[in-house]
Amino acid sequence: MKYNIALVKGDGIGPDIVSEAVKVLEKTGGKFSHDFVFTETLAGGAAIDEFGIPLPEDTVNTCLSSDAVLLGAVGGPRWDNIESARRPEKALLGLRSKLGLFTNLRPALIYPELSDACPLKNRAIPNGLDILVVRELTGGIYFGKRGRTEDGAYDTMSYSKAEIERVVRKAFEFARMRRRRLHSVDKANVLETSRLWREVVAEVSKDFPDVEVENLYVDNAAMQLVVNPSQFDVIVTENMFGDILSDEASMITGSIGMLGSASMGIGSFGMYEPIHGSAPDIAGKDIANPIATILSASMMLRYSFDLQKEADAIENAVKSAIHDGYRTKDIYTEGTKLVGTKAMGEAIRSYI
Ligand code: NAD
Repeated sequence: MKYNIALVKGDGIGPDIVSEAVKVLEKTGGKFSHDFVFTETLAGGAAIDEFGIPLPEDTVNTCLSSDAVLLGAVGGPRWDNIESARRPEKALLGLRSKLGLFTNLRPALIYPELSDACPLKNRAIPNGLDILVVRELTGGIYFGKRGRTEDGAYDTMSYSKAEIERVVRKAFEFARMRRRRLHSVDKANVLETSRLWREVVAEVSKDFPDVEVENLYVDNAAMQLVVNPSQFDVIVTENMFGDILSDEASMITGSIGMLGSASMGIGSFGMYEPIHGSAPDIAGKDIANPIATILSASMMLRYSFDLQKEADAIENAVKSAIHDGYRTKDIYTEGTKLVGTKAMGEAIRSYI
């Protein structure tokens, strides 16, 4: 089967890490007889250099006519002095809204071999950590009416039932693919949008009797993530709470170079990218960790193309490479094998 993938390599380490993910996809395609066809397109600083704007119409069209998008990262000090409307980061917001991506998936996972990187390592996390944060991405306070009054300022949080339902339904579906536990996070003791959120969760849960649901206030969720992170499987929440909690969850793993993410809309189309930025300090030096991008590619296979065996093959290859001691500089500890970006990609491919 043929799949069209738009590649937005972006800036900084973007090209280094996306190239490794592409080679991993090619190896996987060869093994399982799929044809992954890649179309490169520009966004971020690279697009500003070439066209003077961070997100050309052509890039949006290339993405829209593909089955999924794989993105590296955008931005860097070269473009820091540009006025805010034309900065590289605008490309990300533009892509999310023009591609209709209303659900953001952020897994946070600790590999036993890397548990020393966890800032909570002195407190036992006996059952490990494998959380998926599902964040609503195009509604809530970040998109509400805002402004200034004579002596103050305001931001507005509003959600329609439909906006809540579509992301909550996705979260239930993901929980069903995993350990069938869903925590819905809100602030229903204070916020009306949260009370509506809870009602919708209760309604949708009737269609998923096999998924165990629990409602949690966001302050408690932030605390529980530190106190007992293993209790979580899937967390679903609105935009701002999700922004904060997904960062908190991923930082518990201590390995920013290891975590991928997905942004999805209606149907199976999605945009996949590492959670880290363009790391301009290490760009082009063959030291960036490509695993976050490689795992983003495996999420693409799982969530957009429904290729579960193929996604498993990539995730298991990453686990094997870690298990056998391959480490890029960011996750290196004494006694392991220090490798560069390309060698890490090659090691992972060798296990597929
Ligand atoms: P960053 O994630 O790029 O880097 C933070 C630190 O982590 C740096 O020390 C970097 O070297 C390291 N790091 C990041 N990814 C790594 C990897 N794969 N392997 C090894 N080390 C890695 O965050 P920052 O420094 O705050 O931002 C740098 C630029 O990236 C800025 O221009 C920022 O706007 C942009 N940014 C882009 C995105 C995105 O495209 N999604 C996200 C965040 C930041």
